[in-house]
Amino acid sequence: MVAAFGQRVILEDAAGQRFPAFVGRRGLRAVCGDRVRWQRPGDKGDAIVVEVLPRARVLSRPNHRGRVEVLAANLDQVVIVCAPEPRTDPFITDRYLAAAEAMGAAAAVVSNKSDLPEAAEPPELAEYRAVGYPVLAASAHDGTGMAELSALLAGHTSILVGQSGVGKSSLLNALVPGIELATASLSTSTGEGRHTTTATVLHPLPRGGALIDSPGVRDYAPALDDPGCVEPGFREIAAAAPHCRFADCRHLREPDCAVKEAVESGTISARRYESYRRLLRLTNTLGRPEWAH
Ligand code: GDP
Ligand code: ZN
Repeated sequence: MVAAFGQRVILEDAAGQRFPAFVGRRGLRAVCGDRVRWQRPGDKGDAIVVEVLPRARVLSRPNHRGRVEVLAANLDQVVIVCAPEPRTDPFITDRYLAAAEAMGAAAAVVSNKSDLPEAAEPPELAEYRAVGYPVLAASAHDGTGMAELSALLAGHTSILVGQSGVGKSSLLNALVPGIELATASLSTSTGEGRHTTTATVLHPLPRGGALIDSPGVRDYAPALDDPGCVEPGFREIAAAAPHCRFADCRHLREPDCAVKEAVESGTISARRYESYRRLLRLTNTLGRPEWAH
C-alpha cells in the first residue's frame, strides 16, 4: 500500500501498477508500506482490502489521545537529516538513532546544507561514524552528496526524519523526480485532495526502493516503548554491557560497570553516554512520552 487517506487507500501491485481501493472492514487499518490482500467484487467496482499481512517493522508515534498510532510499516531504513542552521540538537539525533535500533531498521545521518559557509562539521558526526553509522555531507542546493545519498537509499524502504527546517522537503524534491505531480495525481484518484498534505505517501525511487514521506513524523522523534529499549538504542553501550559485573546493569551507579569505564577511558563518547542517561530518564518517568520540541 502506497498511501492512505482514511478508508481510501492506493495500492500498488507486483507490476508497479497503482490503483485506488477501500478498506472495507471496521477496525481494519492499513498504513503506508503495508502488504495487503484485496478483492474486486464483480468485474468493475473498487478494490477492497480484506486483510493486512503481518508487519515487520513499524514507525509509530503517540497521537493526541496518547495512544500509539502506526504511521508506516515495513520500512527498513531511517535517514536522519541534520544541518548547521537550524543547528540540530544531537540529543534528538540520538533519539532517532535509538528509535531506528528499537525498530530493527538501519540508520544513517545526512548532514545537509554543506554549502553554507558556517558548515564546519559538528563533533557528534565523528561519534556516529565511530559507532558505524553512515554519515553523509550533502546539499540539496548545490547537489553535494546527492549521488551518495541516492546510493544509500537504493533498494531500501526509507524515511527521512529530522527537525523542521533542516531541508527534508528539499532533499525529497531532489530525490523523487515529479514528487508534486505524483502527490497531486494520488489526490485526484482518491478524491481526497484536501488530505494529501497530511497523508503518508510511499514514493518509488529511480534506482529502486522507496522513500516514505510522512509529514506526521518529519519533525517528530518517536517514543520508545519501554526503558528496556534504551540500551539497545545506543549500540556502543549495548556492545560494552556484557562486560559489566551485573547482567541487569543500567550503567548508572553500579560498581564494575564496563560502560562507565569505557566512558572514562574515552572509548565511549561522554556526550552519547549522557544522551543515554537522559533518554533512560525520559522513558522511566513518562512511559510513552509525547516528545514535542
Ligand atoms: P524541512 O522543514 O526539513 O522540510 O526543510 P525545507 O526543505 O523546507 O528547507 C528549509 C529551508 O532550508 C529552506 O529555506 C530551504 O531553501 C533551505 N535549504 C534546504 N536545503 C538546503 C541546502 O542544502 N543548503 C542551503 N543553504 N539551504 C537549504
Ligand atoms: Zn554497566
